[in-house]
Amino acid sequence: MRVVHKYGGTSVGSLDRIRATAKLIQEDMARGNEVAVVVSAMSGETNRLIAMANEIDSKAPAREMDALVSTGEQVSAALLAIELNHLGVPAYSYSGSQAGFRTDSSHARARIKGVESEHLIRHMQAGEVPVVTGFQGSDEHGNITTLGRGGSDTSAVALAIAVNADVCNIYTDVNGIYTTDPRIVPQASKLQEISYEEMLEFASLGAKVLQTRSVELAMRFNIPIHLRSSFEGVAGTMVNGEDTGMERAEITGVAYNRDEAKVTIKGIPDQPGIAARIFGPVADADINVDVIVQNVSEHGLTDMTFTVPRNDYAATMALLEGLCTQMKAEKVTGDDTVAKVSIIGVGMRSHAGVARKMFDVLANENINIQMITTSEIKVTVVLEEKYVELAVHSLHSAFGLDAEEE
Ligand code: ADP
Ligand code: ASP
Ligand code: MG
Repeated sequence: MRVVHKYGGTSVGSLDRIRATAKLIQEDMARGNEVAVVVSAMSGETNRLIAMANEIDSKAPAREMDALVSTGEQVSAALLAIELNHLGVPAYSYSGSQAGFRTDSSHARARIKGVESEHLIRHMQAGEVPVVTGFQGSDEHGNITTLGRGGSDTSAVALAIAVNADVCNIYTDVNGIYTTDPRIVPQASKLQEISYEEMLEFASLGAKVLQTRSVELAMRFNIPIHLRSSFEGVAGTMVNGEDTGMERAEITGVAYNRDEAKVTIKGIPDQPGIAARIFGPVADADINVDVIVQNVSEHGLTDMTFTVPRNDYAATMALLEGLCTQMKAEKVTGDDTVAKVSIIGVGMRSHAGVARKMFDVLANENINIQMITTSEIKVTVVLEEKYVELAVHSLHSAFGLDAEEE
């Protein structure tokens, strides 16, 4: 088999962890597999680099930020290649750019255009291991670019597609994908498999176990992802196209995202085109709007409320204040202490009353729902951030997802 292994920050977080990781690669080679590896920076390193730059200038040029943060992965790739060679496994480290990852020029959120992988395939066929830095590539002018936080997952799936691998093994610090984040709900249950469709919702609604774009890519090219632990040798969770559950539970899992802020523009004259006039400039500023609610208008005036990533809160408020004057709106208000909690599952298609049950559970806990949005396989609510844990715990247990006590 041809396999891509991806190791996250904790799996290369110390020399001991690098040794353990090299052993896993050696064992897989001994099974006759061809292996290419993608690594993240040692855990904490990317944050450390960003913090250093911020001490100098919180608005450092994006190109230089990419040049800086890409170095974290170079350290772990080289150290892992050194350890592999030390074990007798021929290995070669490559930066994303050297490996052939070509991207567009949007620093900090570059998109992969293609991977020139012939030399990597030749290594693999010769029994050698290419060790590639995740999270990065270079644009047409040779500038280093990065793919956004958590981007090594996407690098790994892109590499798996480029070398035509049978599976992409993503090694991390949990032994699978759980019905919710096991860090906040220890009773979460491990899923043996999950469809791309559900995993995509899970990831985009906040389960940071896989970067959303990696799931999108895997789904498009039908590459199975095996999410597993680098600490224990047990089977993890398969993310693939199969949906084998005969009788689906009402929901598959619960996700949350604290990275949210809410803004309201009040008393805008209700005329055709107001949504376009508000969201046009917001989109031009590259701010991703998520949940949107427009109130019924009264006396010709209406309110528009929407959520944005918390990082973009200040910029959104500034932009809306300008618009407020132009559009003769009354005022702009905002809150950057909100969060999103979602229930997800294809079972919703065949079970009625799932959303209602969610609202009942939250009402019983006295949690106020500020906004609601639904799709065919998810229901999302916006609430005060301080209620996240209570909401996730109570939904997880009300929908029968808590693992049986052993
Ligand atoms: P890595 O550094 O290996 O990429 P991450 O920290 O990005 O690791 O992802 C693993 C973490 O994702 C776990 O430690 C866990 O706390 C978190 N997580 C969030 N939601 C889930 C979930 N539904 N199942 C498993 N892990 C989850
Ligand atoms: N090191 C990068 C980050 O911390 C990329 C990754 O780990 O996937 O976001
Ligand atoms: Mg990650």
